[in-house]
Amino acid sequence: MREIGHFIGGKEVAGASGRTADVYQPMTGEVIAKVALASKGELRAAVENAAAAQPAWAATNPQRRARVMMRFLDLVNREMESLADLLAREHGKTIPDAKGDIQRGVEVVEFACGIPHLMKGEYTEGAGPGIDIYSMRQALGVVAGITPFNFPAMIPMWKFAPAIACGNAFILKPSERDPGVPMRLAELMIEAGLPAGILNVVNGDKEAVDAILDDPDIRAVGFVGSSAIAEYVYSRAAATGKRAQCFGGAKNHMIVMPDADMDQAVDALIGAGYGSAGERCMAVSVAVPVGKRAADTLMDKLIPRVEGLKIGPSTDPVADFGPLVTKQHLQKVRDYVELGVREGANLVVDGRDFKMQGYEDGFYMGGCLFDEVRPEMRIYKEEIFGPVLSVVRAKDYDEALRLPSEHEYGNGVAIFTRDGDAARDFAAKVNVGMVGVNVPIPVPIAYYTFGGWKRSGFGDLNQHGPDAIRFYTKTKTVTSRWPSGVKEGSEFVIPTMQ
Ligand code: NAD
Repeated sequence: MREIGHFIGGKEVAGASGRTADVYQPMTGEVIAKVALASKGELRAAVENAAAAQPAWAATNPQRRARVMMRFLDLVNREMESLADLLAREHGKTIPDAKGDIQRGVEVVEFACGIPHLMKGEYTEGAGPGIDIYSMRQALGVVAGITPFNFPAMIPMWKFAPAIACGNAFILKPSERDPGVPMRLAELMIEAGLPAGILNVVNGDKEAVDAILDDPDIRAVGFVGSSAIAEYVYSRAAATGKRAQCFGGAKNHMIVMPDADMDQAVDALIGAGYGSAGERCMAVSVAVPVGKRAADTLMDKLIPRVEGLKIGPSTDPVADFGPLVTKQHLQKVRDYVELGVREGANLVVDGRDFKMQGYEDGFYMGGCLFDEVRPEMRIYKEEIFGPVLSVVRAKDYDEALRLPSEHEYGNGVAIFTRDGDAARDFAAKVNVGMVGVNVPIPVPIAYYTFGGWKRSGFGDLNQHGPDAIRFYTKTKTVTSRWPSGVKEGSEFVIPTMQ
């Protein structure tokens, strides 16, 4: 059985707490590894190591730091096949989808390669007599990232690539459910030339997270996961004076206007609703057709497509999606479907009893589709995070705009329409952080920022793009006056620009 320890000081070290967690292979249901769960003391050792290495890394010129990221890109691309295989085995998503997970992380590493430009400060000559002002961005020191199971390559890279490029040392606490890829990425960063101690992976559970939150030498924490934990991390990090950005759960709606191309809308719903078994924070979990005709047409086209979804093991090259991540999560999703039936929603496709031949112990379920879901139902209010799509019929555009705007989550939303006026109005008014127009999963590309609103995001600065540079640096502003600009005598009145 493979034992996964921690990655501290440039190498893998065995766990010393005596506590471990099982890592499953969801496609077969087997335990394929045991991952160490760090104690407070082990986390502290990683922080001390990182703090010792960080000043020299921050003093390394930004172009050299960028070159490490460039070599890392080459190595990730070289290892794409084996990384995707490992990712699919621990997570359950299909290999092509696993490659997408890695690629979306790679794109943020590419963005971070621009760090010499991105970290430039500002300069004003002659702001007053003999006075010049400039600002500079400096690394924070040691920072940490706590990441979820569902993107074990992408989200760690979203966190550590900009942070490290800015000159910080990084402590990554990945999900204990699929820690293999984050550990391998850390090894590749060392192979790319990153000094030991700058990227550390501390595996663990709540104990490690709390140790991060309470550690006085960690200056910032980036979290991605469920909303209750995001809120907890945000407030506990703030209590110890840390900068925090914490991203949570979602309930992403896709509005289908009567003039939309229904075939395109159905294609989009199938991919965005059921891809990765619905275990994406940007999955579409609510479809909102506007008007009875649009709703009936949509359902007629959607039902056979959901019934025809191809579920398979992660290694099946033609499967639409694979198993869910754990047996407990599978049970939770099944329970939600049962709840929806009890709440009175119309379960028009029931995939709960799907069995994968030859993989009977894997964590599979088929696609489920609910019609006539109403906003007061729990299956509408809560995040299910499985291959379950709810259809809420809206009578008009105003109602369709209100639904995602009033939902407690506000991660992503989409509108499908040919009407530019409606699309423009929707994008301007909807109370959600990321909007797609005829794009079902509007994950902004690396040089824009990613972040949800309301209970999908706690904190002000988003992930990747310019916000990532702001989050992982602090700004220092220098006001300088040369002797030629100094007037005689002391000034007792606050200086102004009058
Ligand atoms: P999770 O909240 O269970 O775990 C996230 C991280 O928190 C993990 O590293 C885990 O070890 C840690 N953790 C778990 N319980 C904890 C506790 N009680 N105290 C402290 N730390 C704890 O989330 P998950 O199941 O791994 O991931 C799925 C969730 O993540 C979904 O809600 C999904 O919407 C969300 N997500 C959000 C985004 C986004 O950008 N908004 C992106 C991906 C996933």
